[in-house]
Amino acid sequence: MARAGAAQEVHDAERAAIDHVARLTSRLGIDIDRHSDGETILAHSRTAQKHLRTQQPELDNAYSAKTQLHDTNQLKSLGMASSHHGGLTLPVGFALHPRKYLSGLAQAATPAGVALYGNSPALGVARDGNGIVVTTPKARIKADRLIVATNGYTTEDLIPWLRGRTLPAQSSVIATEPMDAKTLAAQGWTSHQMAYEDRRLLHYFHLTPDNRMVFGMRGGLVSSAANETRIRARVRADFERVFPAWAHVPTPFYWSGMVCLTASLTPYCGEIPDMPGAFTAFGYHGNGVAMGSYCGTLLADLAQGKPPRHLRPRAFAAPPPRFPLGRYRRGFLAAEYAWARLTD
Ligand SMILES: Cc1cc2nc3c(=O)[nH]c(=O)nc-3n(C[C@H](O)[C@H](O)[C@H](O)COP(=O)(O)OP(=O)(O)OC[C@H]3O[C@@H](n4cnc5c(N)ncnc54)[C@H](O)[C@@H]3O)c2cc1C
Repeated sequence: MARAGAAQEVHDAERAAIDHVARLTSRLGIDIDRHSDGETILAHSRTAQKHLRTQQPELDNAYSAKTQLHDTNQLKSLGMASSHHGGLTLPVGFALHPRKYLSGLAQAATPAGVALYGNSPALGVARDGNGIVVTTPKARIKADRLIVATNGYTTEDLIPWLRGRTLPAQSSVIATEPMDAKTLAAQGWTSHQMAYEDRRLLHYFHLTPDNRMVFGMRGGLVSSAANETRIRARVRADFERVFPAWAHVPTPFYWSGMVCLTASLTPYCGEIPDMPGAFTAFGYHGNGVAMGSYCGTLLADLAQGKPPRHLRPRAFAAPPPRFPLGRYRRGFLAAEYAWARLTD
């Protein structure tokens, strides 16, 4: 019973995080190109479609929502024709333009008294008397409180407690130019609904309001030129498999970055245990746009000694264990990806 309660808190926080971003962007008047009514999970095989059917009551309960199952014909009539075997729509969440969101937040922060310093890496972090000292290439900053928000880019050398607790994983995306109505109709995908697949090495994609298809996937262990070339080719090949009618459509845009996994499979959000006054949140498992924003508000309260204004799930307050294998821990992902490719 206690376990079920803890899991439900995480689902409640997921919903609250979405509401938080909706309220925040509306209060600050940030134009984020909001689109998509929840998200649609697509079945890449008949077994996956059966799995979605059995998962449906669980999802309804977890998110207090009424999900809808779709067969392939229904997907077509919803403007989501692809190589999939059906799907399920969870009417929770929305899509946004992340760069517009980020710029809007930065523009709102400055008049609120926040000083932003880009290209200013923290090279050292240490306790100093009652405060914390952060060293950058040009400055030595003494602070009463510190929030570490480096997520999938956390390095092993700055804060001993963080060592081995994050597992960075690369996510990579390609995008088309805006497509005209004829090109969209050829594939039968005209919906602006966010979609992803019910598989371990998932693809995620959506048509932007100006009709560019943005198509991404997990994969790739390290960022190197050779790896980026290989991953870009793989994402492109998968794009053509999922949308065969767009095999001739160029995807001139590509980018990638690191998301962050934890051994507990949930984010951590709280004080850094052996560094009083320092706080951190990380481990959003690729869903940090809403959850990172939400954890930011929790940390803002915790750092000021106030009770968090929103629910902080018990699971988020429990430090995730370290991954074994130290700096070789990304080897886990290699094994996981190979297994996922076999079993997907
Ligand atoms: C291709 C891709 C697609 C994604 N799609 C989605 C999606 O559809 N939905 C979703 O919710 N999430 C998505 N994500 C994940 C999402 O981007 C992250 O969860 C989110 O950015 C986490 O925010 P953050 O601020 O915690 O960390 P980040 O945005 O990763 O920022 C961490 C920052 O810390 C900085 N840093 C690291 N070390 C130091 C140091 N020593 N000194 C100073 N700065 C440092 C880094 O330079 C970086 O700017 C995607 C990620 C990628 C890469």
